[in-house]
Amino acid sequence: MINTNEGKESEKLAEFYQEAFRVYDRDREPPQVEVSFYPYIGINHTIRIRNGRVYVRIAEVCRQMPDDGQRALAFILVAKLYRRRVPKRARDVYSGYATNAEIRDRAAANKRVRGRKIVTTDKGEFFDLAAIFDRLNAEYFDGALPKPTLTWSARKTYRILGHHDATHDTIVVSRSLDSKDTPKFVVDYIVFHEMLHIHHPTIHHNGRRYNHTAAFRADEEKFDHFEAAEKWIEQNVRRLKRNAKKK
Ligand SMILES: [Zn+2]
Repeated sequence: MINTNEGKESEKLAEFYQEAFRVYDRDREPPQVEVSFYPYIGINHTIRIRNGRVYVRIAEVCRQMPDDGQRALAFILVAKLYRRRVPKRARDVYSGYATNAEIRDRAAANKRVRGRKIVTTDKGEFFDLAAIFDRLNAEYFDGALPKPTLTWSARKTYRILGHHDATHDTIVVSRSLDSKDTPKFVVDYIVFHEMLHIHHPTIHHNGRRYNHTAAFRADEEKFDHFEAAEKWIEQNVRRLKRNAKKK
């Protein structure tokens, strides 16, 4: 999982959402909308309302989607929020781009697998992934989750903070988080998210893959420090990026 929140671009996207809100709810002023990109594996987007604010997360793989695709996606997500029919045109425009994005995403995932280092290390300098897994497994899964290979990534990635590789039964956590500056609950949260991928295996339906289902999202929110962890990640991505580049 993970993300970035680039100012100008997000503002432009937020306006597409406000436009959609004006169409679906004519009587009210459109809400404040925050849009960010998340390194969901596969094409998954989420829209949530919290305290009157709307939070949209777009899969990282759709970051390069042109404006008409982004606008179409805004209408799709807002229509879903209001349980209204998705306009056919929006669906057509969006799916044209989404298909390409998904192909690219799969190609990238395959490359990651092929380029995988054999060496695995679950003990970082500051955090022990195996110990974290055991504790979370006891706390949230009654100890029922089979233990995968756990490893820190070879490089300090910042876009993808965690990844569950089902083929190799491996959870990879970005080495950029193995730092004294990372709160413990953040590493816990990343591991927890990837554990949920074991608990909720990918659903294949009509040639599409669904990783973050509604049930997955509901379980994700059961994490004790859910809000705090999401907030920390959003606020620290820039710093992680800097550190990743410094090397
Ligand atoms: Zn995920």
